[in-house]
Amino acid sequence: MEFLRKLISTPGTSGREERVRELILKETKGLWDETTVDPLGNVICRKKPAKSGKKATRKVMIAAHMDEIGFYVRAIDEQGWLRVQKVGGFEPRNLFARRVLVQGRKDLIGVMNPGIRPTHVASEEERKKVLDVKDFFVDAFMPKDEVEKAVRIGDPVTWIQDLAVVGDYWTGKAMDDRIAVWTAISAIRKVARKSACDIYFVGTVQEEVGCRGSGPGAYGLDTDVAIAVDVTLSCDTPGTDKTDSISQLGKGVALKVMDSASISDRGLLDEFIATAQKHKIPHQLEILPMGGTDAGSMQRAGAGRKAFTLSIPCRYVHTPTETVHRKDVEAGIDLLAAWIAG
Ligand SMILES: [Zn+2]
Repeated sequence: MEFLRKLISTPGTSGREERVRELILKETKGLWDETTVDPLGNVICRKKPAKSGKKATRKVMIAAHMDEIGFYVRAIDEQGWLRVQKVGGFEPRNLFARRVLVQGRKDLIGVMNPGIRPTHVASEEERKKVLDVKDFFVDAFMPKDEVEKAVRIGDPVTWIQDLAVVGDYWTGKAMDDRIAVWTAISAIRKVARKSACDIYFVGTVQEEVGCRGSGPGAYGLDTDVAIAVDVTLSCDTPGTDKTDSISQLGKGVALKVMDSASISDRGLLDEFIATAQKHKIPHQLEILPMGGTDAGSMQRAGAGRKAFTLSIPCRYVHTPTETVHRKDVEAGIDLLAAWIAG
């Protein structure tokens, strides 16, 4: 759990995943037979099959992305306010009044707010204004000359929001996709000594900007099978019809049938369903009409390969309140471990 806590609080805007990568390598020391970092920055951790001497076993890539949605400093204006470029899918309505970490020459704490007048003094017209990400700025609480010494254009900025455990609910920023990194590694750790598969766990880069890391990663490894572990939407909250909820928190790990980037291989989907049934692991089937995971790019890299996504249901995706349920995460670990061991 301490590892998850660190994964959540560590910053890793798409393209700047170094700290997450270092954390994974440090916290999983001794688990792998080989580790490498490919040219794009994907961290590749290999666990060879436990039973040596047996005939060739399945070569499996298990990917979970290390990056999180975030920002890059786009400009420092005359007053020293930081203007930012968004990286990944942000909803401007979720950007109000956020505490942020500016990763400059050293880490700086700032706050993000839009350049509008407070509601106390705003006109009727101003209150109706629909805001865009470019209307927001970061206050780093320093005069312009000091800001310029500490911050450079292109420095990454991420939300600050640590993990909180509230009963069975775990909430924090970057649950997408650090909970999947944690799930995948926990599953591999569980069956490391009895796995018949040649496993490549890959912490991928730049998923949030269009799955740019996992495709080349899959091409380089050329595994038989690729499994993405990622979060999926759980719209089981007010404002959405039950049939549109995609997944429901606490009802088990979600097995993806399709999203807008991939259709899961039928054989793999059936294998995961059968494994879940055999071991009585709670699960739900998922169709996500819009959005995708690394499975989409891994499936199509090179000559292609069979791909599937194991999803952890998550409420409030792409907000600093991303929330998962302990039982779904445990089901994810159990199912992935059972599938690898099988
Ligand atoms: Zn994700």
